[in-house]
Amino acid sequence: MSSIWTRILKASADAVFPPRCRACGAFFAAPGDRQRENGRPPGDESMTGLVETAFSGQLCPECRLGIVPVRSPACSRCGLPLAGRPGDDHLCQDCLDGPAVFVRARAACVCEAVVLALLHRFKYGGCVELAGPLAALLQAAFRRHFPGGGIDAIVPVPLHAKRLRSRGFNQAELLVRRWQALHPRDQTDGILLPGALIRRRHTPAQAGLGRKERMVNLRGAFSAGPKDEVCGMRVLLVDDVYTTGATVGECARVLAGAGAAKIEVLTLARAL
Ligand SMILES: [Zn+2]
Ligand SMILES: [Zn+2]
Repeated sequence: MSSIWTRILKASADAVFPPRCRACGAFFAAPGDRQRENGRPPGDESMTGLVETAFSGQLCPECRLGIVPVRSPACSRCGLPLAGRPGDDHLCQDCLDGPAVFVRARAACVCEAVVLALLHRFKYGGCVELAGPLAALLQAAFRRHFPGGGIDAIVPVPLHAKRLRSRGFNQAELLVRRWQALHPRDQTDGILLPGALIRRRHTPAQAGLGRKERMVNLRGAFSAGPKDEVCGMRVLLVDDVYTTGATVGECARVLAGAGAAKIEVLTLARAL
């Protein structure tokens, strides 16, 4: 079908069934093709430009503003946003108090209401079409924070087999797969090794638990996969949200035990 007819049909469908915001549920005017094309100026690699483009059909204009990138100053190890002047990165109190197994953790955006709503729909609402835009955010954060690459393997935080069966997918793995499908050149930055970690134990929900309680809750929850895949490798551990760092910390401990040479962490969102 010619593109003019596709556009006319799309415009009529949008007029009769305007898109509904995936975060707040409000109906909103679909951006026109021209607007969509112009949403991001050519070469605009900024997170704001990316959010406008990637979520133009998913989020209303107000909710698009609710995706806030993690900006400097932040903790140079765990990536926690800090108060102060941009560029004034330093260690946060938690990182001063105890060493982490991973070298550093970075995230695309702050975990606030809109991001939480999107992740909830994605993970529990079966809204897998959100994987594309969310993967675009993850990819942009990777390009920004790991400009030289230097990654041999990407390991998603695994789900327990029982949870994987009920959800149908592992959100972290799906995000990495979409990211690598969107940007095949990024595959040179690390091969995806979804079997490098196994979740042995189905842990109780972690919401409401502090960092220490979460660490106790997670002891023995993960083990290295049977193939000894990460030995000597520089690993990027990927998860959807970094809350207290207990989950990625425990995964990093297991990866280090399996011989990983260096472990860094990338998540979509960072809780404050
Ligand atoms: Zn909205
Ligand atoms: Zn820190």
